[in-house]
Formats: sequence, C-alpha cells, structure tokens
Amino acid sequence: MVLEGLSNSLKGTLQKIAKALFVDDKLINELVKDIQRALLQSDVNVQLVLEITKRIKERALKEETPKTISKKEHLVNIVYEELVNFLGKGEHKSLLEEIKTKKPFKIMLVGLFGSGKTTTTGKLANYFKKRGIKTAVITTDTWRPAAYDQLEQTAKKINVAFFGNKQEKKPDKIYKQFEKELNEYDLVIIDTAGRDALSDELIEELQLLNKTVQPDQAFLVISADIGQTAQKQAQAFHDNCNVKGVIITKLDGTAKGGGSLIACAVTQAPVRFIGTGEKTDDLEEFKPEGFVGRILGMGDLEALLEKTKEAFTEQDTEEIKDKMLKGNFNLQDLYDQMQAMKKMGPLSKVLDLIPGMGQANIPKDLIKNQEVKIEKWKFLMDSMTAEEKETPEVITGKRIERISKGSGTSTSELRNLLKQYRQSKKLMKMMKPGSLEKDMQKMMQKMQGGKGFKF
Ligand code: GDP
Ligand code: MG
Repeated sequence: MVLEGLSNSLKGTLQKIAKALFVDDKLINELVKDIQRALLQSDVNVQLVLEITKRIKERALKEETPKTISKKEHLVNIVYEELVNFLGKGEHKSLLEEIKTKKPFKIMLVGLFGSGKTTTTGKLANYFKKRGIKTAVITTDTWRPAAYDQLEQTAKKINVAFFGNKQEKKPDKIYKQFEKELNEYDLVIIDTAGRDALSDELIEELQLLNKTVQPDQAFLVISADIGQTAQKQAQAFHDNCNVKGVIITKLDGTAKGGGSLIACAVTQAPVRFIGTGEKTDDLEEFKPEGFVGRILGMGDLEALLEKTKEAFTEQDTEEIKDKMLKGNFNLQDLYDQMQAMKKMGPLSKVLDLIPGMGQANIPKDLIKNQEVKIEKWKFLMDSMTAEEKETPEVITGKRIERISKGSGTSTSELRNLLKQYRQSKKLMKMMKPGSLEKDMQKMMQKMQGGKGFKF
C-alpha cells in the first residue's frame, strides 16, 4: 500500500470524527492537531502543514454545513477537499489524449542517479502500449555501462521497440542516429543519464538533448524518499531543464512520500505519475481526487458514517443532550436512548456506560435480562398516555394497575422501570452541564472501542 503510515494516521483521525458524538471546537482542534502530526511524520514541509491545517480549521469553524449532509460528513469533506487542493494545483488534460495529437510524441525522462528513470521508461512504455499506442524507447545514458542492457531487457519483456548505441558517447548523437526510425512510432520515450546532483555538467548535457530531441514533455523522475527536498529539486530542474512535470517513484517504500508529493504539487512541475513498485505494472497516473480518497479510506469512512448515523442521528444526540441539560429527560427518551445503544453493542456492556445506569447499582441478573425488559418497556409505554410518558411522576396508584394490565406485564415490571427512570434522572441532574459532553464522548468511545465497529 502506498503511503501506508500517512494513510493509517489520517484514517484514524477521520474515524475519530465518525465516532465522536458531537462536532464541536474541541473535536476540530483535535482533528487539526492529528492531521498536523500525520503530515509532519510524512515529511511535509512545516509551512505547508500549517497552511493546510489553517484552511481546514477556518472552514470547519466558520462554514455552514450544507443541508444535504451531516456535520460530520461536512468535516470529512473539508479535510478531503483541502488535501486535494494542495495536491492538485495545476490541472491538466490526460497525457494519453495529448499523445494522440502528435506523431511521434516525445517524452524525455530526466533526474538524478538511481531515481528510477530507466525503470520508469519501461513502466511508461508498458502503460501506453497497453492503451494502444505504438511505443519505442531509446537510451541516451552513456554514463553507466549497464544502462543500455537494463533498458534493452525491460523493452524485450514488455515487447516494445528498443534503440541505443553502446559505442557512441554523445547522447544527442545517439538520438540523431535513430531519429528517422523513431518517426514511425506514436510515442518515443527517451531515457537519459543522471548524476549525483544537478551539476553544470548534467544541465549542459540535458540542454543539448533538449535542443536535439525537442521533447513534447520532459518529466523529472524523483524518488519519494527524499521527502520535502523534492521541492528544491523540482524547481531547479524546472528552471534549468525545461521540466514541466514530475514522476515520483518508490512511493511504496518510504514514510516520506507525502512530503515529496505535496512539495512537487506546489511547484510549477506538478506530479503526473507515481511509481508504486519495482514491476513494470507499478505505475499510476496521478489524480489527486482518487489518490486522496484512497489515502483517507473514503469508502470505509462512508460506511462508518452511515453505520453511526443509523445508531444515533445527529439530531437525536443534540436532542438528548438538550433534554438532559434542561432536566426534561422523560421515559420516551430513556427508551429511545436504550434502543439506539442496543444497535451499538451488547446491552449489558452498554448499560454500564449510560450516564447514571452504571452507578445505579442495578442488580446483575437485572442487567442480564435487560434486553427482554426493554421489550417489555415498549409494551408498558404503549399503554401509557402521552402525559404519563412525559411526566412519569404522575404514574401512581390506579395508573400503575391500569398500565401493567394493559401491557400484559406485571406491576413490579412497571415499578422497576420507574425506579430505573428516577435513578437515571437523578444522576443526570447531578452532572454538571460542562462535564456531560465529556462523559458522553467518553462513553461513546468506550463503547466503540469495545465491540461495535470493524474497519
Ligand atoms: P535510474 O538510475 O534513474 O535509471 O534508476 P533505475 O530505474 O535504475 O532505478 C533504480 C532502482 O530503483 C532500481 O533498483 C529500481 O528497481 C528501483 N525502483 C524504481 N522505481 C521504483 C518504484 O516505484 N518502487 C520501488 N520499490 N523501486 C523502484
Ligand atoms: Mg538509468
């Protein structure tokens, strides 16, 4: 998996949103800190990290939630959009379409030693060949003795035409030698020699090749493990060697990939392809939307949001919170709350976590039978008037007999329910308004950590 570390941290963060009971300033602050930590660990430049998270925070705090989605979904969307925004500056049309407009279309790959130019030459050839483009590759690397053989072997394996001249020492002459033959192809990919650094010598060599080849597209190949320093490199190659796009390789093997991706995205040489392994198939056209969606695990997240929504709608939680704070908590609320909890895990465990319930010293066997009891409560409540449900205090004497008879249960069952209600209400009143939210958050986290969800 590409950028596994970053992906896991960001997924964890977004799952926190999904699991949180309320979207509030505290959650947003925590989210922003989490994202900062995750990006810094992926070697994203501090300044850029601050910029991204500042935008996320501002939008999360100020923007109104669109009517069609929940607050949580909105928050997740903001994170998604801002990350895409940072990776996606400078939109472009698909290279495949561009290639079809000119024959031969010439792509030149440049970069430092070991960045992955030769491997990527093979990968690109394979990529476009599979899309019906008649492709040839040519090596102009006269520096490394093995460069010729390496590309020749790759070309053979993927079955594309290969050109090169082991005896010739001048890269531009090699290209000239085969220029006529290369005109027969839709696409020509030119592999070049690297150096340890962008030296004057390399600049000179590439400028000469540029003049001779006149590539339609020059890509800088960068290894992801250089992290945020990719920005300097991309800028330097852009300024000196006419590079208009970047291919980041080895994203499969480094924790710093996020840094190199975001660094290049902010230069004038945006990332166009990524290399995700050593094999010729391990190449992807870089599309920020899909990429960020995958990193954030949007598919899984949507499922989680959906699941949480089923158990507790935002309106529900807000209403319950409101009622508790005002002390308006009634039997119907107690019942609704129990039903919602039931969807989230085994009831015996959940009961412990409902404010008041845990401390209410409910006998063990009572808890055991709670699921059955809840069903009976429903019958009991069906036999109550609206007034009785809203103000259970009026349920005394004759009413007790009437309700238990009407519901087909017993008077002790009803007394039990009322006792539980009184205990809950008493304990809820005792809780300070400020601590309530914290308690509920804690309770939800405990519950979900326990058994509720699988990711
Ligand atoms: P060049 O000097 O720029 O031509 O680099 P090469 O193409 O020879 O690649 C250098 C090394 O990096 C080779 O061992 C490749 O197998 C490896 N490599 C290139 N791209 C990737 C990639 O996307 N993932 C991984 N894991 N290795 C890669
Ligand atoms: Mg090479």
